[in-house]
Amino acid sequence: MTNKRPNILFVFPDQYRLQALGFRGDDPVHTPNLDAFAAESRVLTHAVSTRPVCSPYRAMLLTGQYPHQNGVVVNCNSNTSALGNYLKESTVCLSDVLAEAGYSQGYIGKWHLDPPNPDHNAYTEGPRGSGGVIWDTYTPPSRRHQFDFWHSYGCCDRHFNPHYWTTGAALHERIEPQEWSVKHETDVAVDYIRNANGERDPEKPFSLVISHNPPHPPYQQVPPRYLERYEDMPLETLANRANFDAQTFRGEEGAARTMRQYFAAVTGVDEQFGRMLRALDEEGLRENTIVVFTADHGDMMGSHGRIGKDLWYAESFRVPFIVRWPGRLAEGEDDLLIGTPDLMPTLLGLTGEAGRIPDEVQGINYAPALLGEEQARPTSALYWTAGAGGGGNGVQRRGILTHRHTFVVQRKGEEEQIILHDDNADPYQLRNAADANADLVESLRTELWEQLQEIEDPWAV
Ligand code: CA
Repeated sequence: MTNKRPNILFVFPDQYRLQALGFRGDDPVHTPNLDAFAAESRVLTHAVSTRPVCSPYRAMLLTGQYPHQNGVVVNCNSNTSALGNYLKESTVCLSDVLAEAGYSQGYIGKWHLDPPNPDHNAYTEGPRGSGGVIWDTYTPPSRRHQFDFWHSYGCCDRHFNPHYWTTGAALHERIEPQEWSVKHETDVAVDYIRNANGERDPEKPFSLVISHNPPHPPYQQVPPRYLERYEDMPLETLANRANFDAQTFRGEEGAARTMRQYFAAVTGVDEQFGRMLRALDEEGLRENTIVVFTADHGDMMGSHGRIGKDLWYAESFRVPFIVRWPGRLAEGEDDLLIGTPDLMPTLLGLTGEAGRIPDEVQGINYAPALLGEEQARPTSALYWTAGAGGGGNGVQRRGILTHRHTFVVQRKGEEEQIILHDDNADPYQLRNAADANADLVESLRTELWEQLQEIEDPWAV
């Protein structure tokens, strides 16, 4: 059948950084499946995680709205949900629109968008953060935004002992498969692709979203067979970035160990991703499925002496974004400056459902640009942060990535600091060029302010 609406397979491992794609020649990682996939895909070289932490990314991905509008400004847990920081039932999400458009939809893996369920307290045996903060939760069907197939959990970093609530399961009925979460989630995804258990309506197109937790910490929870490749790799090979500083690992031994583990998880994610692609091929779904591989944010992994995310540096802010749709999207690199809120309207545009993009959406539908049609291209992509992680140290930042610069305004109380990196001349972002480039700072500030006013960010008032 021709003109059949395309399926979507959207895979986004947690904390998988842009540099950890073997074909780029940055990190010394083995990613043969992603390398081959990229060779037949559109590879976006300037995709960003607009607010590079878990819950805000996920909320932007699903709503097409910036954090101050969708209300998910920091990570979701029992403390922040008391302030209303969670995905609202009433907000129209990508999946709500695709349900209206007649899609079967599955969600597999980490969700991390809900307040702790009121009944969860009495039920859960953990894990809890400092001060008894609850991170994980059960998502009742009313909060699943019309994903009709569900194999998910809230937030729980146990890669060898993950748990899931499945489609019809009640709060007390979670499953614990006792294997590496990426492998288990891929098994479930492959079954969904094959429709092995009647998970989806074969007459409808499907949209399947897969959110692996690795290569996120705890880094050591990675199958030993993926580590073998990196075991003898010395630190100077592992840590090949000029901005690397081992201090965050408390020494070189810890640095080498952690990087081996992170890269091993990357190789494991790659291997499992390959299984999903083969399942598509074997089911004859290759041609009519839009496949996206991206991440919610990156990982500093020792760059600038930091680990984790939430920073404007390339290792945290920029993400992989590889999209394949045979015969429709041209192969090759594309330097489109695409931000997280643009993903929802762009996916709707690619599926031919641009007319259903809700009025509240702030992101832009870049489907025409990706399809090679005439469209005005952005000259910058926003960076947005409100305190660190789910806590907050009082530091707020707004910034932009352009094709040449990374520009950030940082505020703490009355203090304001300007950060400017020339990413061409200084690709490892070792220098702050703000003081020496007053005119450039002024023009980038104007561009940033125009973007903030466009999305009605109170910062720009
Ligand atoms: Ca994350």
